[in-house]
Amino acid sequence: MSHILVLGAGPAGLAAARSARRRGATVTLVDSSEQLGGQFWRHLPDARPAANERLLHHGWDTFRELQADLRADDGCRILTSASVFALEPGDSGPGRVHVIVGPSDGTGRQRLELFPDAIVLATGAHDRTLPFPGWDLPGVFTGGAAQALAKGERLAVGRRVLVAGAGPFLLPVAASLAATGSRVLGVFESSRLPSLVRGWLPRPWQLLPAAKKGAELAGYLGGQLKHRIPYTTGASVIAAHGTDRVESVTVASLDANWAPIAGTERRIAVDAVCVSHGFTPRLELAIAAGCDITADRFVAIDDAQATSVPGVYAAGEITGIGGVDLALAEGALAGHAAAGGQPSDLPGEVRKRRVYAGFARRIEAAHGIRPGWPAMVTDDTIVCRCEEVSFGGLCRTAESTGSTSLRSLKLSTRAGLGICQGRVCGRSLEQLIARRLPGNTLGDAVSTDRRPLAVPVRLGELAAAASPSDPSPLSTSTPLADPLKGPKS
Ligand SMILES: Cc1cc2nc3c(=O)[nH]c(=O)nc-3n(C[C@H](O)[C@H](O)[C@H](O)COP(=O)(O)OP(=O)(O)OC[C@H]3O[C@@H](n4cnc5c(N)ncnc54)[C@H](O)[C@@H]3O)c2cc1C
Repeated sequence: MSHILVLGAGPAGLAAARSARRRGATVTLVDSSEQLGGQFWRHLPDARPAANERLLHHGWDTFRELQADLRADDGCRILTSASVFALEPGDSGPGRVHVIVGPSDGTGRQRLELFPDAIVLATGAHDRTLPFPGWDLPGVFTGGAAQALAKGERLAVGRRVLVAGAGPFLLPVAASLAATGSRVLGVFESSRLPSLVRGWLPRPWQLLPAAKKGAELAGYLGGQLKHRIPYTTGASVIAAHGTDRVESVTVASLDANWAPIAGTERRIAVDAVCVSHGFTPRLELAIAAGCDITADRFVAIDDAQATSVPGVYAAGEITGIGGVDLALAEGALAGHAAAGGQPSDLPGEVRKRRVYAGFARRIEAAHGIRPGWPAMVTDDTIVCRCEEVSFGGLCRTAESTGSTSLRSLKLSTRAGLGICQGRVCGRSLEQLIARRLPGNTLGDAVSTDRRPLAVPVRLGELAAAASPSDPSPLSTSTPLADPLKGPKS
């Protein structure tokens, strides 16, 4: 019986785990969160459940069913609060997977090494926020952070909140803010109406099989009307102002390339602002496994969700940003294939994948980041929030050192080397540096997606594990010949 390791317990990972179990494989499902569900089904902890959790979710019954099936299944070992921090490719099989188990702020975390027959990578994405003056002030949140606080804690990030950025994700963010008691002053979508029409409307009949998405959209728009939340296209927050925290923002109209249009600026008083410009896939483990990455920087997959590395499959946001339905279909196909099945065994999932992949292409066409955004960035704008590196500082270093490589600029300015390891700023830094260079190309092939350690691990934990003579519990590396040994959480 093969052992499949599923990395990530969001929609894609949950679907993959169940699909692999249905084909008879044993499964280990690993997620760094305390709970299953990923970003989409983030919810209050079991210890303090909501009276009606489904009010904040779409597809809540699907999640409940997936979770119940997997938890009741002795052939599926579930490890929560367990982070995969490294992956070493193997000569035969997909390699050795290093996991650290225990709360990230806790001590006495346990190390595991897993040697699965196949891996399904379903590690999802981070939300991306483009830098603008004042985005480092307290009270400026990413849309994802606001959504996580609303869904996972029922906390509103402020009383008077403005939502800005790009993409359909702005709508659930506004809905969750309204549901948790914020007054949402408006949703500002950066793309202009003609771009939205060009992105969403070609061959509209192809949208029909995704009618469920239309109903979801109608629900959000109904909520916007009910709470009187205006929706403005071709405009965004271009600066946040305040001393100790954000007190107001400047909103301006944007041109088709997202450069602010002079003379259209206006100030709006807020006590919080949520800004999100789409998502960046979490690629570090796929890169560590040696998987090919596409030109638009997702994990390259074939029809069976197989990556370029034998025994490694991928599903969900790491193969393209398409939302929960695409993640579920891809997950089902990936788990099935990892356990030896063929896509043709699951024609319904293949059809859903085709339908929702089309949806993903429309999202990118309508809301994808446009090249004029750096016009928002001033000399003083902090581009790396962790290390407080300003755009002016970055440019001056590039000029004085003549550096054209991302690596040398990171080392000389520390941009992208802070606690988030470039997850928040990495892609924007790459673009800001590259646009100053001939051909808009960086002088090295280094990307900010490459991180040898996928999550922070304490030096002590690494050092202890590296010393086989040290018998302390932290160094316990447990090759799991039988993946079902050990506690089921
Ligand atoms: C912050 C945030 C909030 C979102 N909220 C919404 C929303 O409200 N509505 C909506 O339509 N879409 C939302 N999205 C988009 C949504 O996440 C996707 O459409 C969908 O959840 C994708 O499913 P997935 O399984 O690919 O990824 P995810 O749901 O992101 O699941 C990936 C899982 O992998 C785990 N993981 C990643 N790396 C590791 C590691 N090294 N070790 C262990 N575990 C790991 C993560 O903890 C996570 O649980 C949100 C996205 C983000 C980033």
